Parts: sequence; C-alpha cells; structure tokens
Amino acid sequence: MATYTLPELPYDYAALEPVINPQIIELHHDKHHAAYVKGANDTLEQLEEARDKEAWGAINGLQKNLAFHLSGHILHSIYWHNMTGEGGGEPHAADGVGDLADAITESFGSYAGFKSQLTKAAATTQGSGWGVLAYEPVSGKLIVEQVYDHQGNVGQGSVPILVFDAWEHAFYLQYKNQKVDFIEAMWQVVNWQDVAKRYAAAKERVNVLLLAP
Ligand code: MN
Repeated sequence: MATYTLPELPYDYAALEPVINPQIIELHHDKHHAAYVKGANDTLEQLEEARDKEAWGAINGLQKNLAFHLSGHILHSIYWHNMTGEGGGEPHAADGVGDLADAITESFGSYAGFKSQLTKAAATTQGSGWGVLAYEPVSGKLIVEQVYDHQGNVGQGSVPILVFDAWEHAFYLQYKNQKVDFIEAMWQVVNWQDVAKRYAAAKERVNVLLLAP
C-alpha cells in the first residue's frame, strides 16, 4: 500500500484559462505531480530495504530524494487548491478573509509590499523553485520564502499557505521564457478563501514547535 497518493484536481483542466492553459494543467498534474508521488513512495521503499539489509551505501542520495519528492508532492497538493477560475483581486474582510488580510498588512507593512516581495521572490528563482507565503509559528507572522527546487532555502517549521510554482514546466508551453509575465498573471487566479483557510489552520497549531511555554 502506497503511503502517498496523487490527489484529484479540484477543477477541470480548462478551469484556469486564460491564465494557465489546459495542456499545462494536464501535464503538470498527471505527469509531474504524479512523478513526485511515485518518487516519494519509491524512496520510502528503498529506505525500508536499506534498513532491512543494513545497507547504507546510498543513504545520502535516498535522504535527498525523500526531501525532494515529498516536498514536491506537498507543494503541488497546496498549489492546485490555491488557484481558482473565480479568484484574484485583494483579500478583503467583506469576503470573510479579514484575518488573513490583517496578517498580511501586519507582517509586510502593506498588501502592495507583500505582493511585490512574493512576485519578485518567485520570478527571480534561479533554475527551479517556488515563491511561497508561509506562516512562521515562532513569530506568529507571515513570511515569504524563495524555495530552491522543492525543499531548499526554507525555515524549519514554517507552513506554506500560498505557493507559486516557478519551475519551467509550470508555464513554458504558454509563456515561453517570460517567467515574470506568468507570475504576474498568477495573481488573477489566487483563491483567497483557500489561503485564508490554510492561515487559520496553521495559526491553530501555533505552539507545535514547543519553543515557548
Ligand atoms: Mn510543478
């Protein structure tokens, strides 16, 4: 029995047009995300085999593969739900996402400052990576992270609540080399209801790191 399974998309392949075309969504979910799920499961099996045989020659590669594939699975699982064809705009209290809107202002000074930082962080990734808005439980504030691949350059314990995939597979078929245009278009499909739900859930488990009494 596999530990991880590929979640279904919460919409059809064409739901995010014109920001992301159906061909990208189909390949991205059915092939790329599926490969991370398989990679995570395969790596867990290989680690079990290594334990059984006490054969640790490949331990460094296996641990790296586990971090890469598992993080890829988790980020993509969040990514699909972070987007909706009826999304975009700024989060407003009138839409029931006032706590999130307040947290963004408190953490970044202004919505414009936050938007600018996340756009830049995602659009300037070198090679493959992500721009991420995360809840940081020690400060109780939101931070932006520029993630290398799926797993690097992140603070331990932070919970991703809004993720922008900046890998070429996320946009190249439609935007070619114009990564900045893709990231700027992404703001039109942000599902603030979903981000607000993730913010509330992350805040609930604020003391999970037990760094404070
Ligand atoms: Mn991706």
